[in-house]
Amino acid sequence: MKPEAVLCVRESRIEINFKRKHCTPRIFDFLKCLADCKLLGYGNNHMIRLSEDGKTFVDIQCWEDIIERPGFQQKLNPKEVKLKRIIGQYSINPKQPCGLKNCGTKHNRGYLVEAEDGLETNIGNVCGGKYFGVEFKELQNVFKMDSNAQRYREEIIEKQNQIHAIENTIKSLREGDYKADWCYDGVHSHMTRLFPEFLSDRLISRAKRNNGIVTKEVALSNEERELSSQAGDKSAYRTEQLFVIYGVAAAVSYKKIRNILATFFGGELDTFKNLDVETLDYNSLKTWHNWKNRIDHQLNKLREIIDDCNRFLAKSNIEMIRKYKDYL
Ligand SMILES: [Zn+2]
Repeated sequence: MKPEAVLCVRESRIEINFKRKHCTPRIFDFLKCLADCKLLGYGNNHMIRLSEDGKTFVDIQCWEDIIERPGFQQKLNPKEVKLKRIIGQYSINPKQPCGLKNCGTKHNRGYLVEAEDGLETNIGNVCGGKYFGVEFKELQNVFKMDSNAQRYREEIIEKQNQIHAIENTIKSLREGDYKADWCYDGVHSHMTRLFPEFLSDRLISRAKRNNGIVTKEVALSNEERELSSQAGDKSAYRTEQLFVIYGVAAAVSYKKIRNILATFFGGELDTFKNLDVETLDYNSLKTWHNWKNRIDHQLNKLREIIDDCNRFLAKSNIEMIRKYKDYL
């Protein structure tokens, strides 16, 4: 096996990222030797995943471990066998010859399959569909779902183990400098009670356009008008900036604080941390896997809204909004 790129020391995950062309022959031979002794991995495009029971998957480092499996046959005749299931998938470098007798081409990617008589072989990525048709596509779907389900289980468990840290982050957003609940109450009371209704409506409209710049029109003096008409501008007014409303988006977005805290990081988080992945069906695994992928986004969104609220609620900002309310 000749590694083109050696990417990591497997246990300590140190990247060394050598390309063959960047190495002297002696260094390359040394790395190859380490790789052959399995002290180094073969780069991140190297993947052999095998599942004997359709539920648990193991990562195999070495192609030799595949071809030495009892039942493995290198020249399987697709006309004589019926496929039972796909037991693995691979993406490797260097390429390995296809296990189908009538192909034999070297492929980078493909599947490990088991026939009904117990024989195993490897089939190139497109060869399965080509020689076994729809039947292979169906096996491919089953394998893909099993493989996804296992990945969902592993990633959900991994995130469940990090829940304590996420709960601490939420706690600090509520109780620390961010003051999430204070932000909600503060903006809510201004928008529903403390500001006159017309002002709240204008702020909502500005929040939707994310426009915090407040201006007024000033009539030009005779001199100014003359100057601008010389430049071809016939307008009688100029626009002057009065002030900028900080965190104007908060006038609308503050409502999401409650929703994110009570729903996403409330009931849903509680359900997530108590999930038993072994009892979940495929759709539930997929749903909760997607849910956990939204955690970081929801945290960032919460931080962003709270930032806006804090800037919006600053005393000087509220004073300016009140002072220039008629210009909003
Ligand atoms: Zn092939």
